[in-house]
Amino acid sequence: MENRNSLLKYKKGSNKILIGLDIGGTLAKIATVNHKDESEIEKVFESFSNMNKIQTGDYILHLLFFSTSDFETEAMTFLKKINEISEITQIHATGGGAYKYEPVIRKSLKAEFIKYDELISLVDGYIFINDYGFIYKIQNFDERIEVPSLDLEFPHITVNIGSGVSILKVCSPLQKDIQRVAGTIMGGGTLIGLSKLLIGIDDYNEIINLAQKGDYHNIDLSNEDIYGKDSKKNSSEPEIPLSSFGKVYNYVSDKKKSYKKEDIALSLLNMICLHITQIASLVAKKYKINNIYYYGNFTRSSFAISLLNKASLTWNKNLKVRFNILNGFMGSIGTLVEKNK
Ligand code: ADP
Repeated sequence: MENRNSLLKYKKGSNKILIGLDIGGTLAKIATVNHKDESEIEKVFESFSNMNKIQTGDYILHLLFFSTSDFETEAMTFLKKINEISEITQIHATGGGAYKYEPVIRKSLKAEFIKYDELISLVDGYIFINDYGFIYKIQNFDERIEVPSLDLEFPHITVNIGSGVSILKVCSPLQKDIQRVAGTIMGGGTLIGLSKLLIGIDDYNEIINLAQKGDYHNIDLSNEDIYGKDSKKNSSEPEIPLSSFGKVYNYVSDKKKSYKKEDIALSLLNMICLHITQIASLVAKKYKINNIYYYGNFTRSSFAISLLNKASLTWNKNLKVRFNILNGFMGSIGTLVEKNK
């Protein structure tokens, strides 16, 4: 981080810790940067098991998240603890919650509170992180290959899958060249919401674990169900169901038929991945852009990544699709990046 430190707001002022928040509809993401010798600050982080810690040179980047619904309790307790050790002088914040929770934060911390556009912060974050070589891509289904630093290619399409989905056309790092061109209401929030209604599970990791053991052929209507075993010659895309959840209808009269949670979880996840990737591939086609980068915490699991990757290449095998291991944190990191405008 030494070389890139000049690109962070860290050098400004005397604050011992930089704090960036991205408070979304589901998760509140926090990115912090401090010098490795700040042992008191380091101790505060020790109690978080799900924290990402990246040390480069003398600086440490910590990444952690809380449920947005717990922001006023858990996230504020964390921020107050840090504030006791080293007075927080500035809070850099983005996401809808930067507006909603501003009064709460200001009241407790007395720090300068600076708000940023969330899509610009997202792009700033991943351009900064990309310079460390954290981007990896998936070659095949279920196969992850980490690659060294990989220059982002411009123009590209960015798909951010959070609670909902934003699709951006990014022609250069300049703000004027970053444009939201599409989106969909069917995103990570839809996965959790429908899963809760259908199988009573609203924990993202649990849904993914179930889906990994599922078989969507029990739920989705396929070519084979309509055309019979010879379906391949009738279909150009045998991998894509004809209708997500479409097979359930055929069993309406069969009162005894029940569906496994695993199969429902997979059909649901697959439906959302196919939907999002189809829109993204159409946007890419419209703008004649082949590079698509996926972000957002929906891409936290490698299984979701595998499905998105597979679905993308099914729509268009020429797409260059990439994912990032720090997926959901780009907005919070982006608030900490110093920009030359
Ligand atoms: P937002 O900014 O809208 O909160 P995020 O990029 O943080 O969006 O992504 C939220 C989505 O990430 C959720 O809808 C869910 O699908 C997925 N997700 C991954 N891990 C978790 C988790 N631990 N808790 C809740 N949602 C999670």
